[in-house]
Amino acid sequence: MNNTEIIELAHRNMVDVYGCLPLAFARGHGSYLYDADGNRFLDFFCGLAVTSLGHGHPRVVRAIKEQAEKLTHVSNVFHTEPTARLLERLANRFGGGKVFLGNSGAEANEAAIKLARRWGSNEGGGRFEILATLGSFHGRTLATLSATGQEKYHQGFHPLMPGFRLVPFDDVAAFDKARQDQTVGILIEPIQGEGGVVVPHNDYLKRMREWCDRNNVLLILDEVQTGIGRTGKFFAYEHAGIKPDIVTLAKALGGGLPIGAMIARPEIGASFTPGSHGSTFGGNPVACAAALAVLDALEQDGVMDNAATVGAYMLERLGKFAKTCDRIVEVRGLGMIIGVVLKHDARPIVDACVKDRLLVNGTAGNVLRLLPPLNLTREEADAGLAIIENALTTVPVAK
Ligand code: PLP
Repeated sequence: MNNTEIIELAHRNMVDVYGCLPLAFARGHGSYLYDADGNRFLDFFCGLAVTSLGHGHPRVVRAIKEQAEKLTHVSNVFHTEPTARLLERLANRFGGGKVFLGNSGAEANEAAIKLARRWGSNEGGGRFEILATLGSFHGRTLATLSATGQEKYHQGFHPLMPGFRLVPFDDVAAFDKARQDQTVGILIEPIQGEGGVVVPHNDYLKRMREWCDRNNVLLILDEVQTGIGRTGKFFAYEHAGIKPDIVTLAKALGGGLPIGAMIARPEIGASFTPGSHGSTFGGNPVACAAALAVLDALEQDGVMDNAATVGAYMLERLGKFAKTCDRIVEVRGLGMIIGVVLKHDARPIVDACVKDRLLVNGTAGNVLRLLPPLNLTREEADAGLAIIENALTTVPVAK
């Protein structure tokens, strides 16, 4: 099928929630995607921070093939080797923890919210409330939506779930003011991704850690987007030299296969007991085999160092360009999560980049969000940035 045929077929039958771009992809290789008509696109989008090793990474492809030939599913009533190995790798990465595996970011956050409530109902003295932040994004299930600090996602879904309140991001004092006797945890992203690549002050996470310790409140970090090396370290919180009580991961963990994880300090994880939570597909052996291959690549192939150095280079080049371009408000980010804040809607720039065969994302209205593969070369970075700079130079500003 060609592009047009695929797009028409999809639109005839899909629930229209995505507002898709008119593109249909047939295959991918490294940092490039090929549409169904054979056109090649440089990918700074990565399936929304998922394909962090690029497309068709040999380690990931091999792991999926080998595992699919052996065994694809048995349920969590039984054990499999890839799942057992992944649980250990993630627990070790966290520095000792208990892990729950699901299939998505929202599910990982649901597990974190439920675990915090469960812990709160015992050790926490009957506490249940989670404080989250304005501008955040934590998922589309009702609980994660209730923790998401963006009104536009709430519209038409009221009443939201009780037990959540929102406070300003990057403001420790706001948590102090908001905390009540029933507050059991706080849920924050180290960098707000979907909210516009909002990077807090350097000491924010450290001060939140101290605040949580003082108040016996759980620090839950949503690293669904920032985790798995995206900022140049495995967990973004490592930049702050702290450790949360609970962290959630998804997106890049499976190298393109659906998987999510919640990791908790062992004493908190112990609040989940047989029957208190679960998932049919979570920890599926094929997804776990893919995730193990992703972890191997990150740990053995210098991918995170590359994300740090090429990411820093991209920020520097964009920062220099911003000085010559008065439609840019700010360039911000860390490693390979980069936001170019514009004075206007990002959509015309996204469209112009797509025309020039570069995939980028627009978020929070006026932010161009770059989420390239972590193993992007400097030449690929230059090729993509040249397209963005050209769009920002030539696309007329809408009146
Ligand atoms: N948390 C964060 C920080 C995210 O960026 C996202 C998705 O964009 C989610 C949670 C939800 O993940 P999923 O779409 O896999 O449910």
